[in-house]
Amino acid sequence: MKIHILTLFPGAFDSFLSHSIVKRAIEKRVVEVSVHNLRDFTHDRHRTCDDRPFGGGPGMLLKPEPIYEAVEKLFPQTPRAARGKKRFIYLTPQGKRFDQKKALELSREKELVILCGHYEGVDERVIEEFVTDEVSIGDYVLTGGEPAAMVVTDAVVRLLKGALGNDASKEFESFSGNLLEYPQYTRPAVFRGRKVPPVLLSGNHRAIESWKKTQAARRTKKRRPDLLKKKEKSRAPRD
Ligand code: SAM
Repeated sequence: MKIHILTLFPGAFDSFLSHSIVKRAIEKRVVEVSVHNLRDFTHDRHRTCDDRPFGGGPGMLLKPEPIYEAVEKLFPQTPRAARGKKRFIYLTPQGKRFDQKKALELSREKELVILCGHYEGVDERVIEEFVTDEVSIGDYVLTGGEPAAMVVTDAVVRLLKGALGNDASKEFESFSGNLLEYPQYTRPAVFRGRKVPPVLLSGNHRAIESWKKTQAARRTKKRRPDLLKKKEKSRAPRD
């Protein structure tokens, strides 16, 4: 997969791309991530990317010209890159809430373009022209789209084949079957008086699997009953 990130702050991604699973996935060529500075697509001395909104209102907006130019230069064969051909994500609190299902859907694409907004957001014409998916990472307002781009990139990259040391681990993670993951323990078996549940030390694989299932269901019921409703819905026969 290839991921292009368009941002005013490319440096914000340095640490993110040089650690842990994302770093390893890049080294293993599971994914290629290119971070593009929108200021490189300006032509004035101050490399201006923002301007005041028409009609007044607080703050500034990202101008359309640098974003259009970036897309046209980066994808010359498909200048209208996003028009149904390329997934072009704009991160915005007004978008659809990002979740594991969306991460899985995006992980099946060959190429993603992720636009990070700033100030009060972007000129609406950019969204009309290029954007296929408006994505929010939650009901709160960030200063810029960069942390959200890292969230989306991380969640997508770890789903790519070969990104994790053990591909099986993602199958059993929280949300993979609308269940949260069961509690987990490592050595020592007794730590400061707290004991690991004895079944996990029993060597009885069937009993262990059954314990994990029960714990996952119990935890989900307590913390996220909404997920269990989703699970029931997806099981219900269609009319
Ligand atoms: N004025 C905008 C509004 O009310 O919808 C908020 C702009 S916000 C200060 C600046 C940028 O941060 C946005 O353009 C977007 O790219 C990013 N952003 C803020 N909150 C976000 C969220 N919850 N999810 C994804 N991106 C977000």
